[in-house]
Amino acid sequence: MAVQQHRASKTRKRLRRTHFKLEMPGMVRCSECGEYKLSHRVCPSCGTYKGRTVVSK
Ligand SMILES: [Zn+2]
Repeated sequence: MAVQQHRASKTRKRLRRTHFKLEMPGMVRCSECGEYKLSHRVCPSCGTYKGRTVVSK
């Protein structure tokens, strides 16, 4: 197991975390209503996933 030899300074810790969020969101167009939604999630505007209605409004 890797053992930390030195405590990371505030700056080094923050520099590492600058890369954290940047990517990810994964916004795609909903195939049903064309709204932007997160991929692999139920569409928040029409409530469908993989072409079938999962959440009814
Ligand atoms: Zn939709």
